[in-house]
Amino acid sequence: MKTKYINWSVELTGCPAIIRRCPKCGEKTRYICSERFRINANQSKLDIWLIYRCENCKSTYNHEIYARVNPKSLDREEFLLMQDNDSSVACKYAFDKSVAKRNKADLEYSGVEIAVKGEGVELSESAEIEISSAFEADIKLLSILKGRLLENDLPVSQNRLLTLFDEGKLMLEGYDIRKAKLKTGMRIKSFAAS
Ligand SMILES: [Zn+2]
Repeated sequence: MKTKYINWSVELTGCPAIIRRCPKCGEKTRYICSERFRINANQSKLDIWLIYRCENCKSTYNHEIYARVNPKSLDREEFLLMQDNDSSVACKYAFDKSVAKRNKADLEYSGVEIAVKGEGVELSESAEIEISSAFEADIKLLSILKGRLLENDLPVSQNRLLTLFDEGKLMLEGYDIRKAKLKTGMRIKSFAAS
């Protein structure tokens, strides 16, 4: 049987929030990304932050992106976009787990909208699906698969999906489907029942 090759492009709209302790609220709160940068020049070095606001008390917090960096080492085009508070560059850093870790903040994705573009797949056909995404995110791949795979014209439920993986009718290369989080280049194979 012919295998269908499909690309699913996962588009994430909006920036993740961060969870950190708000000194004013006195507890961990959700901070919303303002999608604005603050850039300070200090002699020949730059400090660059992404500005967040506590959802409760609106106090601002500067999320460190670069500290005392030589401007020549920055991507020139990206630096210009930062000066214009470009939202796609802001989101790129808002999604960056290593930046969050350095700032001792946890990322929170409830405000991020997920859209998957690409042809749907029937379980009765053999297919190889490659996932592409501009961002890595702690979003379970299972929740992305839900509604994209169809059985008798109906979306397959999460439990049914897990059964299909356990039975080997679906396969995710190199990852455990129960734990897998969205990453570009992931491949899922669907084997038609013979
Ligand atoms: Zn607060």
